[in-house]
Amino acid sequence: MPVTVTTARADSPPRPVRAGQTLVSLEGVDKTFANGTVALSGLDLDIRGQEFVSLLGPSGCGKSTALRILAGLVDPSRGRVVWPGAADGDDHRGDIGFVFQEPTLMPWANVADNVFLPLRLRGVSRREAQGAIASCLALVGLDKFAHAYPRELSGGMKMRVSIARALSLRPKILLMDEPFAALDEITRFKLNDDLLRLQKEFGCTIVFVTHSVYESVYLSTRIVVMAARPGRIVAEIPVDEPSPRDESFRTTALYADLCRRTSAALHGAMGADEHL
Ligand code: ADP
Ligand code: MG
Repeated sequence: MPVTVTTARADSPPRPVRAGQTLVSLEGVDKTFANGTVALSGLDLDIRGQEFVSLLGPSGCGKSTALRILAGLVDPSRGRVVWPGAADGDDHRGDIGFVFQEPTLMPWANVADNVFLPLRLRGVSRREAQGAIASCLALVGLDKFAHAYPRELSGGMKMRVSIARALSLRPKILLMDEPFAALDEITRFKLNDDLLRLQKEFGCTIVFVTHSVYESVYLSTRIVVMAARPGRIVAEIPVDEPSPRDESFRTTALYADLCRRTSAALHGAMGADEHL
C-alpha cells in the first residue's frame, strides 16, 4: 500500500527532533554475514537530534554495514535498532534519506524527475510533488538545473542531485556513505560547506561515513572511530566548535588539535587490527 505523503509534508522541513533527544539507537548490534564474516560486534550507538556524527575507520570495519542496519536495509544478527517514541514494527523508511558514494541517477531522466522518484514510488503525483522538488533543488543550489540531464552535470552537481533526492521525503535523518570520496578536493570543500548550511536550514540529523580525518573534524559534532575484525567502536571524539563553521575553522588551533587526536585514534584502530 503506498504511504501517503501530502504536498505539505514533502514540501517543508521535517518536524525537528529536539537537539540532544535520541532519534535512533543501535543496541548491542552484531552482524555476521552468511559466509561467516563478522562485520560488527557489540555496537552501541545513540544518534541524537541535529547531531552530525561521522563514522571513521579503516576499510572493512563495518561502516557501511552499520549505516545499512540503521537504514533498515540489513537486519542485525543480534541486538536491535531502536527508534524511541515509535512503536515496534513502525515503518521508518520515510524518516531516512540515504546517499551513496555513487550518485546512482537515472541517466534517461532529467534532474527534477530524478528528485521526484522517491515521491513517485510513494504514490505522490508529479503536480503534488512540484513544490517539494523545487525546494529540494533550491537547498542544494540546483534550482536552475531542473531540466538538465545527468550527462550534462559535473560530479559535484550529480552528488547534489543525489542529496536533493534523499531530502525529497523530508527525512529526519540523512545517512551518507562516503558521498564525497570520488570528488576533487575543491569540490569536496564546497560540498562540505553546503552540507553544513543545508543541515541547519533543513534541521535534520546526519550520519556520515568517511575515510578522511579532516572531513570528519570539519563537519562533525561527534566522531565515532571504528576498528575492524570485528567491526567495533574504539573511540568517540566530540567536536565542540559551534556552527556556523567556515573555512577559518580549518586554521584554528582547535581544528589542528582535533585532527591530531582523531588521527591518533584512527592509527590506534588500525594498529588494533592484527591482520593489517
Ligand atoms: P566498510 O564500509 O567499513 O569498508 P563494510 O561494512 O562494507 O565495511 O564491510 C564490513 C565487513 O563485512 C568486510 O569484511 C566486508 O568484506 C564484509 N561484508 C560486507 N558486506 C558483505 C556481504 N553482503 N556478505 C559478506 N560479507 C560482507
Ligand atoms: Mg563502506
